[in-house]
Amino acid sequence: MIQISTHGGERFNLSKIPDKCPFCHKAITPNILIGHTHVYNLEVIMFCPNEDCGKVFIGYYRLNPPSPVPQFSGETTKGTLETKKFSEKINEISSAFVKIYDQAYIAEQQDLKEICGVGYRKALEFLIKDYVILNHDDEKEKIEKTQLGNVIENFVNDTRIQSVAKRAAWLGNDETHYIRKWEGKNLDDLKKLIDLTVHWIEMETLTSCFEEDMPE
Ligand SMILES: [Zn+2]
Repeated sequence: MIQISTHGGERFNLSKIPDKCPFCHKAITPNILIGHTHVYNLEVIMFCPNEDCGKVFIGYYRLNPPSPVPQFSGETTKGTLETKKFSEKINEISSAFVKIYDQAYIAEQQDLKEICGVGYRKALEFLIKDYVILNHDDEKEKIEKTQLGNVIENFVNDTRIQSVAKRAAWLGNDETHYIRKWEGKNLDDLKKLIDLTVHWIEMETLTSCFEEDMPE
């Protein structure tokens, strides 16, 4: 329990405090300054202990009388937006994927949860098609026009990439359609499957590089 006081002289015990700085995005235990109550809301002003950051932000709580412990909403001040780091190889294979993924990620961090999935779905399409075109340069135009599901089925040879990309595409399509086919699966699952697709594409291209460099 962490004890805080408000500028009005009230005291509260907090059972939970933010564990990540919204500015430097490091895992932290914030230093608490003071609280402010308004109706059933408690806003707690705190700052990042990281010397290179030190930014002040607010943690948002709900008061639930008669419970003496305010409930942390999980929300803090919106700080700086994060971007996802992709390897040089992935940037090389599809810079469009990296660009679209980051735009979707920005939308997600702005709580635009209904539309970021469509962005992730688009990013996936660019990744798969750019990756496939690398090995099927002569069929570039055909691949560009073919539906993502068919590209995965007919042009992706690696079974691990095919398996995760196919499932990512299923969930991605759910983000764009009126009716959800995969109840119980969500945006986090889509992102995990895209992560796996990225991972296996990296592994596959890296393995191929060595096989070409060092033929048997
Ligand atoms: Zn910080």
